[in-house]
Amino acid sequence: MKNAEKNIFELSRRGRGGVFVPASDVPDRPLEGLIPAEYRRAKPAALPEVAEPQLVRHYTRLSVQNHHVDKAIYPLGSCTMKYNPKINDSLASQPGFALLHPEIPEKYAQGALELIYRSAKLLAEIAGMAEVSLQPVAGAQGEMVGLLLIRAYHQKNGNKRKKIIIPDSSHGTNPASVSLTGFEAVPLKSGADGLVNPEALKNLLDDNLAGLMLTNPNTLGLFESQIEKITAMVHEAGGLVYMDGANLNAMLGLVRPGDMGFDIVHFNLHKTFATPHGGGGPGAGAVGVGQNLREFLPGPRIACQQQEGKNWYQREEVGPNSIGRVHSSDGNFAIIARAYAYIRSLGADGLREAAECAILNANYLLSKVIDFYDLPYPGPCQHEFVLSANRQKKLGVRAAAIGKRLLDFGVHAPTVYFPLIVAEALMIEPTETESKESLDRFAEYLIQIAKEAETDPDLVNSAPHNTPLSRMNEAQAARDLDLAWAGDISNGD
Ligand SMILES: *Cc1c(COP(=O)(O)O)cnc(C)c1O
Repeated sequence: MKNAEKNIFELSRRGRGGVFVPASDVPDRPLEGLIPAEYRRAKPAALPEVAEPQLVRHYTRLSVQNHHVDKAIYPLGSCTMKYNPKINDSLASQPGFALLHPEIPEKYAQGALELIYRSAKLLAEIAGMAEVSLQPVAGAQGEMVGLLLIRAYHQKNGNKRKKIIIPDSSHGTNPASVSLTGFEAVPLKSGADGLVNPEALKNLLDDNLAGLMLTNPNTLGLFESQIEKITAMVHEAGGLVYMDGANLNAMLGLVRPGDMGFDIVHFNLHKTFATPHGGGGPGAGAVGVGQNLREFLPGPRIACQQQEGKNWYQREEVGPNSIGRVHSSDGNFAIIARAYAYIRSLGADGLREAAECAILNANYLLSKVIDFYDLPYPGPCQHEFVLSANRQKKLGVRAAAIGKRLLDFGVHAPTVYFPLIVAEALMIEPTETESKESLDRFAEYLIQIAKEAETDPDLVNSAPHNTPLSRMNEAQAARDLDLAWAGDISNGD
């Protein structure tokens, strides 16, 4: 590894420090009287000792070794890695929020409960749904909740419907959530235009149908144009329609899932509503439902009542048909707080503009690169598009290599090999927060790599060349994981 950064223990020198604790103003009490011997350390913990400048420089250097959205474009399709305004972080980190204990009595948490209550109301309005639960803490958990709602609905109506139809353009978590909740996933092949074909759907409708789970826009970045017809057909057959709205950033203020006939929708606050995310968390997968499914939502829910002329917020138990709790607390509060700040700071017009920019940016970028790569399903697209590197594969350069070569230009790679219905897929989501200059630069990189595939395929295939780590043996890295630092800091220097 080039310029390998030492770890913090290797930087440690005995006696250095950056924290100076003031003298205590209460009497000392020895630990012996407070903590039983078996829980006390025999010798002090081996903590690194570094001065503040070394500490700050160490983490600053580390922070730029990996790619992140504060550095440059992060066009990872489906993940919506847009820039997150810092005001959202700052609001969520207010001491009154950040230091709040989840079990604190409600009378001391009125502000936080009000924020959850109001966020749910705003999200219900944005999605056109009757009510929203903020308990689920990931998109995939939102899907699980949605499917449990479908199950509860059919159980109450006394039928044992098992089948959930999933178009092959859906997100990969959808069939997994279906299996997890005991349903049976039935795939539906997309038409040549990449959309659900109502004729093909018709063949799958029967009285075992529990519902349809539709990613919209689908993973090709296309809007399901026959949506009202599709939802009507599923309802006619006695099923419910679920929308995977993880990528609601293409719809904000333009269309609402509730108006299109969906019974359930989940949306990822950590994607659409600007929260730093990745590497497995944190997230919030809000779930919205229509009037007919409210009784099944998870509980307790946050309710608002009038007490002595003032609003009073409290957790309210839900009825016997609820699917119950899906989180030990009220959800991922810090993410909800960021989403609230984002929604309030943009306002209705700003949200709509965000969606318009998401769509405009993706189509602008697509128009710049369309002559250099294959586009199996024609645009115009919504917030993302999926190219194929089939043309480059014939020259010996595969999609993964193109992704690696992009790293050399200081940008992140797109999602590769997904969705599965596109061979050599390069799934690109520029997001609404990129400027025209940033999109132009990214297009130039993609075009340059397409030319390199013709003139110098080895250059692409041996990339990355400019990153701290060169190309890894990914199989070995996964099988032979080595994260432990085997050194010894007992003698510091
Ligand atoms: C990201 C995503 C999910 C999964 O969300 P997680 O929060 O990662 O669990 C589901 N569906 C779609 C369309 C997505 O883009």
